[in-house]
Amino acid sequence: MAPDELSGLIRDIPDFPKPGIVFKDITPLLADPAGLAAVVARLAEPFQDDGVTKVVGIEARGFILAAPVAVALGAGFVPVRKAGKLPWDIHRQSYELEYGTDLLEIHRDAVTDQDRVLVIDDVLATGGTAAAVVELLAQSGATVDAMAFLLELGFLEGRSRLGATPITTLLSY
Ligand code: AMP
Repeated sequence: MAPDELSGLIRDIPDFPKPGIVFKDITPLLADPAGLAAVVARLAEPFQDDGVTKVVGIEARGFILAAPVAVALGAGFVPVRKAGKLPWDIHRQSYELEYGTDLLEIHRDAVTDQDRVLVIDDVLATGGTAAAVVELLAQSGATVDAMAFLLELGFLEGRSRLGATPITTLLSY
């Protein structure tokens, strides 16, 4: 499936969830069997030979993509969740969104310094969320080896907040 076919399955919703934000609605892409399969395969493909042990998904849309990518890579899946959702001992990190601030949490025993970690989310916007996940994993002694996103809002320059971490995106706006 060509990139313009994939982007044709992503719907722009103006002024959601706040005025001035153009929300990238990926639900039509997720609902398309060929589109979903192509996205999972392409997110996983660059990392086939990298020995990834944990794929970290960011709540909530990151989960949808990270779990099948973990299966494709023979890795485990680890959720990073919003505040108060995880039942065990956690690390916590505050972060900024394009449209607000919040907290992210991870189980303390979910990753270690022995893991090779790939972080997956649907959208790279300002990079605040992804930068917080790097900090969160550092609290566990783990390093983020790479990050992959379905789409990147390039004009927000999120990459500039992520230092030297290798970043792959399938679509750029
Ligand atoms: P940021 O921290 O600004 O990089 O925002 C990334 C997170 O917010 C991702 O988890 C996205 O799901 C969500 N997000 C931010 N901006 C948008 C947008 N324009 N459309 C859809 N999701 C977005």
